[in-house]
Amino acid sequence: MQHHTTVGIIGGGPAGLLLARLLHNHGIDCVVLESRERDYVEQRQRAGILEQGTVDVLRSCGAGERLDREGLVHDGIELRWNRRSHRVDFPALTGGRRVWVYAQTEVVKDLIALQLADGAPLLFGAHVHAVEGADTDRPVVRYRHEGREKTLSCDYVIGCDGFHGVTRSAFPEQARRTYERVYPFSWLGILADVAPSCEELIYAHSPRGFALHSMRSPEVSRLYLQVPNGTDPADWSDERIWDELEARFAVDGDWKLERGPVTSKAVLPMRSFVTEPMRWGRVLLAGDAAHIVPPTGAKGLNLAAADVIVLARALAHLKETGSTALLDAYSDTCLRRVWRAEHFSWFMTTTLHTDPAQSDFDTRLQISQLDRIAASPHAAAELAENYAGLEIG
Ligand SMILES: Cc1cc2nc3c(=O)[nH]c(=O)nc-3n(C[C@H](O)[C@H](O)[C@H](O)COP(=O)(O)OP(=O)(O)OC[C@H]3O[C@@H](n4cnc5c(N)ncnc54)[C@H](O)[C@@H]3O)c2cc1C
Repeated sequence: MQHHTTVGIIGGGPAGLLLARLLHNHGIDCVVLESRERDYVEQRQRAGILEQGTVDVLRSCGAGERLDREGLVHDGIELRWNRRSHRVDFPALTGGRRVWVYAQTEVVKDLIALQLADGAPLLFGAHVHAVEGADTDRPVVRYRHEGREKTLSCDYVIGCDGFHGVTRSAFPEQARRTYERVYPFSWLGILADVAPSCEELIYAHSPRGFALHSMRSPEVSRLYLQVPNGTDPADWSDERIWDELEARFAVDGDWKLERGPVTSKAVLPMRSFVTEPMRWGRVLLAGDAAHIVPPTGAKGLNLAAADVIVLARALAHLKETGSTALLDAYSDTCLRRVWRAEHFSWFMTTTLHTDPAQSDFDTRLQISQLDRIAASPHAAAELAENYAGLEIG
């Protein structure tokens, strides 16, 4: 049997779930099809930093209650290099913007709970294998659910199905242009049951490679080490990880890295990727389905949120006025922000990591840039504005 909905959303990650919530609040019907089961989606460890604009939209759509109770407000980050450190003060440099530490797992849990309690259908275990008719008035989504083949016809289909999703392939090959950079290093990320050794995130440049100290809560630390591509986490004992972190965070003064039991280890590859345009006919892409950034700038989840804010606004405008003007502008509007975030993420990555082919000249350029951020409020403000997030256009 074929069903129809106004907006078919493929993917129940942050982009798909937030879009469904925003559409619900505008009285626009939709269906979310998510290939994985609920437990898997809720446990998937990924991002942890929310920009001001992301927090604002979560609050305004009713998903801010636990975030306000449990999220940690951060007013800056610390940079470390050459055994020295410098704090970048976000509110002072941006006119009051800040960031929140609140894990993607928790954002997803909050949005799923709202959706199931009072929202449009959200189907888990619904694997989409084709999107057809992008350039017709009734695009169709084909998926498998509860062992049966099903079809959903839609006014619009939104691909929120991440980097490995299927929606992108509904755009004709000749209409797509992709831009990509794969970095010659990865991150080994750990979760540890130990109170963070810092109040704000520490981004460390070191001759041994990059390290990041982040956190999930007052009891759980999240730390990352730059490692070679192809690294097997099993080659890194807990002791080796802590020793290496300690060496990379080394700073003059009496700072100490607290150690604790490591509860998870995973290697994340680093990639920049953009596909253009983000719309073809009645099929649109949002979030990681359209663009990937290396996590150094903490932008992935925030970009996904920005896309769906623009999209929900455009679909609401269409419902209220019958005009497709905002939908027609969707791809260009989002891509301006996407490319800014791509640049910032590339900048943070290349300034802080050690490329295996790096020369001493390259290292001196990195140090010069870090010195400049410490010396110039203008240079620091450029970092702070991008990190805390630009206004959503
Ligand atoms: C391993 C990893 C670690 C990361 N760590 C960080 C980090 O530390 N900091 C940071 O800022 N960002 C990080 N990111 C990026 C950030 O998590 C993403 O940008 C964010 O998840 C984007 O949300 P999304 O909804 O667009 O995509 P996703 O979260 O990828 O969601 C896509 C959803 O679509 C579903 N799906 C896929 N194909 C289909 C299909 N055919 N049918 C139905 N459903 C489908 C998937 O199961 C998934 O639930 C990380 C990403 C990854 C992959």
